[in-house]
Amino acid sequence: MGTTIFTTMSSLALRHKAINLGQGFPDYNMNEELIDLVTKAMKDGYNQYIHMNGYLPLREAIAEKCFNLYNADINPEEEITITPGGTYALYTAITTVLQPGDEVVVFEPAYDCYIPQVELNGAKAVIVELIFPDYHIDWDEVRSKINDRTRMIIINSPHNPTGSVLSGNDMQQLSEIVRDTNIIIVSDEVYEHLIFDDLEHESVLKYPELMDRSFIIFSFGKTYNCTGWKLGYCISSAFLMNEFRKIHQFNCFTSDTPKQIALADFIKEKEHFLQLGKKLQQKRDLFQDLMQQTKFKPLLTHGSYFQIYSYADISSENEKEFAIKLTKESGVATIPVSAFYRAEINNKVLRFCFSKKDETLHTAVERLKKI
Ligand code: PMP
Ligand code: GLN
Repeated sequence: MGTTIFTTMSSLALRHKAINLGQGFPDYNMNEELIDLVTKAMKDGYNQYIHMNGYLPLREAIAEKCFNLYNADINPEEEITITPGGTYALYTAITTVLQPGDEVVVFEPAYDCYIPQVELNGAKAVIVELIFPDYHIDWDEVRSKINDRTRMIIINSPHNPTGSVLSGNDMQQLSEIVRDTNIIIVSDEVYEHLIFDDLEHESVLKYPELMDRSFIIFSFGKTYNCTGWKLGYCISSAFLMNEFRKIHQFNCFTSDTPKQIALADFIKEKEHFLQLGKKLQQKRDLFQDLMQQTKFKPLLTHGSYFQIYSYADISSENEKEFAIKLTKESGVATIPVSAFYRAEINNKVLRFCFSKKDETLHTAVERLKKI
């Protein structure tokens, strides 16, 4: 197993003093009030272990949010666990279910931790490729790959790296496929609020039939512009969550205390997450406008921090070579989308992260214009 592409490209960016539009994180600061609430929690003495499953008032606030947003009736005691980030929640969910020999349907391009986490559990990833260039799912292909060994399907919307989003019809198709099977769904929804163009996020939480067999993964890092906090949560049915907690208790046991205290209050400020998509859409639109001055061509994005651009009019090099060259010679780091596939693939596309200050986006495009 090699080093993740995010570390590779961020290190390269640092070495060559390139603008980092690769790894997905905002370069603007998070909310000051939330920082003050964490400081206050620490000063108030909340510095010891908190309940293994997370601070209950925070879980209650999350349950209320799920009801308001998705009309989902979630029991905060039994169905929510706070975790040290979304990646950890994914790993725990996957480890809870999989046994050696199990098969898992994974859509490629796939966020880079899914397949290693499946394989670390001795299971096998069965790949279904999203259809280029809008990266939609061919559900007939999914049907053709399901068999008695299929134990799990991993979905991700809004999608990293493509920014595609699942529709109500996609969720219907998924429901039909898993009905009368033992297939568990892992739904990675860390970008739930980062959705554009007046689209609505199709959370599994909206579908009670799917909810019973799902682990749904969230990350505070994305919702509060603090990816370095590494704090998230998992929602599942009481039965599955009971199993999840058996792994969780002997892995990290519990998560950061002061941030949970701070978030329990702050999460009630609905305006923050309701405005998040609109604010980020302005950045997508700004970047897209600026990029018209370059030879890069945009593909559609409806959510996440990311947009994919084609460089087919500039070079025929493979994506990794081109991304490295762009970092070293033009001073802009990106992520080659081929890094999210197992097979060799060269669609001549790169992923750009646009959750950056406007001035960062302007400076990056000034550099890209010269190519
Ligand atoms: N899933 C996806 C699709 C992501 O992009 C990320 C990125 N950070 C994660 C999960 C992990 O979230 P966290 O940083 O909270 O571990
Ligand atoms: N999720 C972030 C991205 O896609 C990176 C997180 C990480 O570095 N593992 O860029």
